Amino acid sequence: MSPREKLEGTELPRVLVPPPGPRSRSSAKRLRGNEGAAIWGAGDSPIVWSRGKGSVVLDVDGNRYLDLTAGFGVLSLGHSAPEVARAVSAQSRKLTQGLGDLMPHEGREKLVRRLASLGGGALDRVLLASTGSEAVELALKTAHLATGRRRVVAFTGAYHGQSYGALAVTDYPGLGKPFAGQIPDLAIRVPYPYAYRCPVAPTCGGRCDLHCLDAAAETVDRELRGPDPPGAILIEPIQGRSGCVLPPPEYLPKLRAFASERGLLIILDEVMTGGGRTGPFWAWERYGEGAAPDLLVAGKGIGGGVAIAAVLGRKRVMESWRKHVLPSGEAPHSSTFYGHPIACAGALKTLERLAAPETRAHVERVGTMFAEGLHAVAAKFSAIGEVRAAGLMAAIELVRDRASREPAPELTAQTVGALMQGGVLAWPGGIHDNVICFTPPLTITEEQVTFAVGAVERALQIS
Ligand code: PMP
Repeated sequence: MSPREKLEGTELPRVLVPPPGPRSRSSAKRLRGNEGAAIWGAGDSPIVWSRGKGSVVLDVDGNRYLDLTAGFGVLSLGHSAPEVARAVSAQSRKLTQGLGDLMPHEGREKLVRRLASLGGGALDRVLLASTGSEAVELALKTAHLATGRRRVVAFTGAYHGQSYGALAVTDYPGLGKPFAGQIPDLAIRVPYPYAYRCPVAPTCGGRCDLHCLDAAAETVDRELRGPDPPGAILIEPIQGRSGCVLPPPEYLPKLRAFASERGLLIILDEVMTGGGRTGPFWAWERYGEGAAPDLLVAGKGIGGGVAIAAVLGRKRVMESWRKHVLPSGEAPHSSTFYGHPIACAGALKTLERLAAPETRAHVERVGTMFAEGLHAVAAKFSAIGEVRAAGLMAAIELVRDRASREPAPELTAQTVGALMQGGVLAWPGGIHDNVICFTPPLTITEEQVTFAVGAVERALQIS
């Protein structure tokens, strides 16, 4: 394929050279020579992306992949979505920077109002950020201002980002370890409802009876009687990086009720699950009104490829910021790129399509197809311990055998590698490195989903 070959975004993969090809290898080598950190770990050379359209990405060797990562779920409308590209391009000729807390701009006003309208009535106040981690920290700051309490209840296996404040609430194996001395001690850790690997009742056999909620409640109640009580509970409605871990349907409403009884705020981290990824616009809507949060963190997919994140909150909670305006009149929070005009323009356009009923219908239809396909593959391979899916967020958890449920991290790495050799990109996840995660563009076609399922089967056959 010539570098100029037109891409539609609906193509199937075409692998010309076994990845990573020579151009990827030398580009990665040059990058590694100058990049400051071990940013892609100790692993082999990765493939280096050059171009993308829809659900398809090209590497610098001309290989064409079906991208089931969408950049960890960011590219909700696919790579280089034409409407986002047009909006970004028009904005880049109109206004490219605002003046933070001093002077807003028109696009910021529009985006904030649009996001507020997506908050379902209750969450009608919005703060913007550029990354998920930054927005998580903004939610933590908000909760602290609103409750006067510094600590938060957070979950085992939680992933909330890697800046210091976000690391304080993240619990992903090893991530914060080198920085332990600098990470603030904010989190009260309680077990996430991970029924397949129940953290409190290993004999429950995947049939969850919410023992973990009782255990969490006990811990929280004890801390509430102590000298440094928590002010909020922070939870992913579905854990993303830990492998698409879905709580039982009654969990979130019960947690919400528990928090309300004790005057604790609920913060939902919807950075990965928001923007229609799981079907409804927010994943909490899957569990009904009773699961509605006080604060909601969004990022990734709401921008369709631009770097934007947000906190949506209830008025009474968000208004607590107003009491903290500095004596000089300066805002209690700001950043140089706050509500960056190009990001606002891209996000505004993206939200239009994400909020459309057709998008939800498509996600539910192809999401069901994908999940059914993965279940059919699981029926043939005992290495698949569990298939989990919600809309277009899906995962397979790989085990040595179904009886022991012992995680199979090597097989997972091999299968992800075999998928890539076959032209399909997926990302490894799970706290035991044994989950293959799929977060494709929400625009993926039925034909591409069918191909993806076949590719998973082929990859498992040869791994
Ligand atoms: N929260 C969740 C649920 C996430 O999945 C992520 C990113 N994977 C983050 C927060 C952090 O977002 P970012 O990488 O943009 O800082």
